[in-house]
Amino acid sequence: MRTHRTFEASITNPRQVSDDLDQLGRAASKLWNVGRYYAQEQWDETGEIPDDGELKSELKGHERYTDLHSQSSQRVLEELAEAFNGWFAKRRNGDGRARPPGYRKRGDSHPRSTVSFKAAGFKHDAQFTRVRLSKGRNLKEHRSDFVLCEYELRPDVDLSEWDIQQVRAVHKYDEWRLHFVCRKVIDPEPPGDETAGIDLGISNVAALSFGGESILFPGNALKEDEYYFGRKKAKCDDSRSNERLRLDRKRTERRTHFLHTLSKHIVSECVERGVGTIVIGDLGGIRDDENGKSRNWGKHGNLDLHGWAFDRFTSILDYKAEAEGIDVTVESERDTSKTCSACGTKDGNQRVERGLYVCEECDTVANADVNGAENIRRKVTPSPSDREDRSNGWLAQPSVHLFDRSEGRFAPREQVVDCKP
Ligand SMILES: [Zn+2]
Repeated sequence: MRTHRTFEASITNPRQVSDDLDQLGRAASKLWNVGRYYAQEQWDETGEIPDDGELKSELKGHERYTDLHSQSSQRVLEELAEAFNGWFAKRRNGDGRARPPGYRKRGDSHPRSTVSFKAAGFKHDAQFTRVRLSKGRNLKEHRSDFVLCEYELRPDVDLSEWDIQQVRAVHKYDEWRLHFVCRKVIDPEPPGDETAGIDLGISNVAALSFGGESILFPGNALKEDEYYFGRKKAKCDDSRSNERLRLDRKRTERRTHFLHTLSKHIVSECVERGVGTIVIGDLGGIRDDENGKSRNWGKHGNLDLHGWAFDRFTSILDYKAEAEGIDVTVESERDTSKTCSACGTKDGNQRVERGLYVCEECDTVANADVNGAENIRRKVTPSPSDREDRSNGWLAQPSVHLFDRSEGRFAPREQVVDCKP
């Protein structure tokens, strides 16, 4: 089974490569316009729009075509043909307002279009984390014939595990970034047939139950970031909107890194325990209470963060689990916080105090989030796990794994303490 992923990298030597990339990006816009013009001519003459095959064969002798590596030029014309097809499809579906793809021009200048480099157009150097991007014949003459970009990826991404299919230079946020479009063959054999349940929350981002064992992941690192960036942004006035943009971007990067690290850690804990299925509480229930109103997230109101984080987390967890052959299913979390996971008693009046669930029926005391996670797990696997301890101590005493910012990973609390004597 093949899996595909695109990784975004920042360029660490922008001064050396920006001019060259600008030139390539503008050349891609010019070629787009040449193709667009040709398509218009054909359209006016014959009433038909040429497909990408015709665009390529008709334009490959064009001067603008040879500004870029031939494969990069082909990709520009393919994108143009795809844009026309998208427009046709919209028209067919009755969207009378849909417009055909336009020209890429801003006054006298050209915007910087994305430039794609396929197999023959790039050379990746994993050891020195850099990639060589080929230019077209026309642009080689007075400069060197390639652009050597040094890059940096998120620390948890290892490109050597992937086949790089394509590299794209993308201009956004006023700078060039690289997209590595990757593929690999994965073995979807699941690690075992155990089931784990995950309850997502606020003070604990996630509670994980294996039935007989449980782990809590406090959200303190996320909260600290919210506080830090909230304060920083409050200090920016509108005249410094670039600074606000930069802070937003930084915050998004940090959130994303946190969620990637968390899901990777959870998947590895699951692999260790032979888990073949992860059950996760339905997100719909998290945002709304039973009356359909948004839940009160406390006075710091992190609704935005959490709505965002839950959706992102689930999709990240899903593909990281898939790569290990673990199935992720989403189940409604209805009643999971009101039901005792030890005896099954459902009682709207049960006591939840300081994060503890106390059952009036069987006297079980459980961590409330672990109780929720175990109830979610039981939705798929109603029987107790083989691992289950007959005493219910594990419900009340989960191990706690904290995000260690300096290490960029999660570790059991004891270990974190040990690191800081
Ligand atoms: Zn009970």
